[in-house]
Amino acid sequence: TTVGVLRETAGRERRVALPPDGAERLRKQDVEVLVETGAGHRAWFEDVSYTGAGCAVGSRRQVYAESDIVLCLHPPEDAGDCRPGQVLIGLLGVLHDPGLAQRLAATGVTAISLDLLPRTLSRAQAMDALTSQANVAGYKAALLAAEAYPGFFPMLMTAAGTTRPAQVLVLGAGVAGLQAIATARRLGALVTGYDVREAARADLASTGAAVLDLGTPSADAEGGYARELTGDEAQAQLRGLARAVPRFDVVITTAQVPGGSPPLLVAADALAAMRPGSVVIDLASTAAGGNVEGSVPDTRTVTDGGVTVIGAANLAATVPSAASTAYGRNLLALIAALMPGGEVVLDLDDEIQQAVIVTHGGHVVHPRVKALFE
Ligand code: NAD
Repeated sequence: TTVGVLRETAGRERRVALPPDGAERLRKQDVEVLVETGAGHRAWFEDVSYTGAGCAVGSRRQVYAESDIVLCLHPPEDAGDCRPGQVLIGLLGVLHDPGLAQRLAATGVTAISLDLLPRTLSRAQAMDALTSQANVAGYKAALLAAEAYPGFFPMLMTAAGTTRPAQVLVLGAGVAGLQAIATARRLGALVTGYDVREAARADLASTGAAVLDLGTPSADAEGGYARELTGDEAQAQLRGLARAVPRFDVVITTAQVPGGSPPLLVAADALAAMRPGSVVIDLASTAAGGNVEGSVPDTRTVTDGGVTVIGAANLAATVPSAASTAYGRNLLALIAALMPGGEVVLDLDDEIQQAVIVTHGGHVVHPRVKALFE
C-alpha cells in the first residue's frame, strides 16, 4: 500500500496533512509513503526530513498516479486527477460544496471527509480533525488578541503601580472557545465565557472562567451541537450581547451552527459602544458574514470608534507545525481503522466509515450529501 501526501495549494495554507514523524510511523508498518515535493515546506518540514524517514518525494502527478490513499487538508483543485479505487482523505467540506462531491464521484475515487466524523463516538475521537484544528485555532486566537490589544493581559505589579488585567469575553464555548479561554487565562486575563448549549455552561465553569448569562433559553441540538436560534431568540441574544460586550476589552467569537451560516453575535451597535483600543477576533468570519458585523476574513480593520476587528477563520494554518502534527495523528488513527491488516478494507456498514465516506464506486453515497441534490 502507498500513502500519498499532497502539497496544499491554498494561498495562506501552511499546514501539511502528514508530517515526517507521522510518515515514519506508517513506514514502520511497511506502508510506502510518497510525498509531493515541498509539501511540508511551509510548516518547516523539509523534503529531506521525509526522505530521512524513509519516504519517497515526487511530483504531484506521481502522487496521484501511484498512491492508494491520498491525504490532504483542503479539497485539491485538481481532485479530478484521482483514480477509481483510490481513497482521498481530507477536510473536504462537501456539505457546503455538494458540487465537489459530484466531481469526486465522477472520478471513481472513494472520498472521505473528516468533517463528517461522528465526534461523540469514543472510537472516533483519535480521528477528530475538527477538534484538533479548533484547539489550535482557539489557542492562537488568544495570542492574536493579546498581540493586537494595546494593554497587558495580566495584572502586573511594579514599583510604580499595578496594571489592570484585560477583560476578555469568549462567545461560543466549543473546542476553540474553551482553548481560547484557557490560553487567555494563562496569560493572566480575566475571562468570561458564553454559549447557548446547556452542556457548555458546565464546560465553561470547569475552565474557571466567569459565565455570562443573558437569560435566553438553551439551544441544544443532537450530537452535542447548538441549534440555530429562532428569529426572536436571536434578537434577544443580540440585545443582551449589545449590553454586555462594551464592558470588555477583548471579545473572541467562535460560534458555529453545523450546516448553517454562523450566527451574528456582535452587531454594529455593540462594536460602536466598545472602548477605543478594544479588540474583537472573529473565528467564524466568512465572506458572507461571521459572528461580528463587518469582519472580513484574513483582514484586520479598525472601526471609526477605534475597535480593531480581526477576521480569522483559518487560524490553525498559522500554527502550522503543531496543527499538521495533530492532523497527521488524526489521519493515522483513521488509516489504522481503514487498513486493519495492512490493506485498505472498506466497510460501508461500519459506523465511522459510513459517516465519513462521501463517494464510492462512482456515486455519492453519503445520505446527507445526497439529500442536498434532491
Ligand atoms: P462548533 O464549532 O460547532 O460551535 C462552536 C460553539 O458555538 C459551540 O459550543 C456552540 O454551542 C456555540 N454556538 C452556536 N450558536 C451559538 C450562539 N447563537 N450563541 C453562542 N454560542 C453559539 O462546536 P465544536 O467546537 O465543534 O463542538 C461541538 C460539540 O461537539 C461540543 O458539544 C463539543 O463538546 C462536542 N465535541 C465532543 C467531542 C467528543 O465527545 N469527543 C469532541 C469534540 C467536540
